[in-house]
Amino acid sequence: MADTLKCIKCERGMENISSGCHQPNEGLGFHTRGHYGSAYFDPMDGSYLEISVCDECVKAADEKGLVGHGDPDPRYSWFEL
Ligand SMILES: [Zn+2]
Repeated sequence: MADTLKCIKCERGMENISSGCHQPNEGLGFHTRGHYGSAYFDPMDGSYLEISVCDECVKAADEKGLVGHGDPDPRYSWFEL
């Protein structure tokens, strides 16, 4: 496992399955450039944070109602609905 990412919650290691991109295997990757409202990260210089969360931690949070879900967007549908 050459390129290891760690879950921000449980610290489980995950392989980065896409060279040049942040794409954890058996997990999800998130990035933010910060925003107004954060007292921690809002540099307004184009820099960003990347966060990895393993599937188990996302699933557990989703089951507790802690994960928001957006509506489907046809621009991202690869299959006919
Ligand atoms: Zn985890």
